[in-house]
Amino acid sequence: MIEIKNINKTFGDLQVLKNISLTIEDGEAYGLVGPSGVGKSTLLNCLAGLDSYESGSIIVDGVPLESLGEKQARLFRKNMGIIFQNFSLVSRKNVYQNIALPMECWKVPRSQIKKRVYELAEMVGLKEKLMARPAELSGGQKQRVAIARALTMNPKYILSDESTSSLDPSITVSILNLLDKIRKEMGITIILVTHEMPVVQQFCRQMTIMDAGTATVSGDVRELFFQKPPALQKLLGINEGETIPKSGVNVTFGLAFDTLLWELGKLMEKPYKIINSDFFEFQNQKHGNVTININAEDLPVCENYLQSRGIVYRTERRAL
Ligand code: ADP
Ligand code: MG
Repeated sequence: MIEIKNINKTFGDLQVLKNISLTIEDGEAYGLVGPSGVGKSTLLNCLAGLDSYESGSIIVDGVPLESLGEKQARLFRKNMGIIFQNFSLVSRKNVYQNIALPMECWKVPRSQIKKRVYELAEMVGLKEKLMARPAELSGGQKQRVAIARALTMNPKYILSDESTSSLDPSITVSILNLLDKIRKEMGITIILVTHEMPVVQQFCRQMTIMDAGTATVSGDVRELFFQKPPALQKLLGINEGETIPKSGVNVTFGLAFDTLLWELGKLMEKPYKIINSDFFEFQNQKHGNVTININAEDLPVCENYLQSRGIVYRTERRAL
């Protein structure tokens, strides 16, 4: 488990991390989310033991990182496999040699290295490419090499800094599926820094939204996407009154007599307006939300009906 408590960090006059606190449970798929420049990478580097902070504490499996000496810090970093947007592969080494690199640094015996490289190459689907150099690989393949390399020392955590941000959407999906497999099969906790909301929606179960060095919102991703707090609306680019798309095709149809929206309309005194609805994919499942605006007096009837159907809902009182 990772506990980040009241972390503060400055670069010169700039306070990059402002009193950040969050907890990451074991086996989690955790997102550190926010636009560029808000301090995500800095926080990840502190967590990886690659950067220092002025105050606060980062406690990994009960051990405060600030308390570690140089040698202990080096040992600690074995726990953390890191992958980056630019893959950070050594271009003059082939795939085998790139994956083997950390094990050579740690003076693992040659026979063990070979076994592990083959095992990991199989896991990430690159068995046929072991002799290829990075320049001969696609972006997705390069990231698979980086993932295999990050796994060599059996880390407990994988830290990913925008690792899918330079990849095509379909390649991104396959890399996230690979990370999910690693999380489930190897029990590795994965912490994903990203500014891409589809990545959060596909992969993360818990997240913290960062804005200007502050952790503004933390919680269950599904719950947050349902509640849509202002910090998330901002990230999703939702502005009130701008929900009508400027592209695509508008399709208007009548409500069928047996549908929920029809039944609801029949029960209420005043007509309602559908002000927004969306149908989206979340962790490979389809979901849909509809927002209607009703007369305040009709709220009890509406709530009663939704509760009787076992439908989860939220209300937001509108007042000018
Ligand atoms: P993010 O990953 O969210 O894009 P970063 O953590 O990279 O944000 O950066 C946060 C802020 O800190 C930015 O304003 C960036 O310019 C600044 N910053 C990052 N690293 C350094 C550094 N080594 N020296 C000075 N300023 C830095
Ligand atoms: Mg960054």
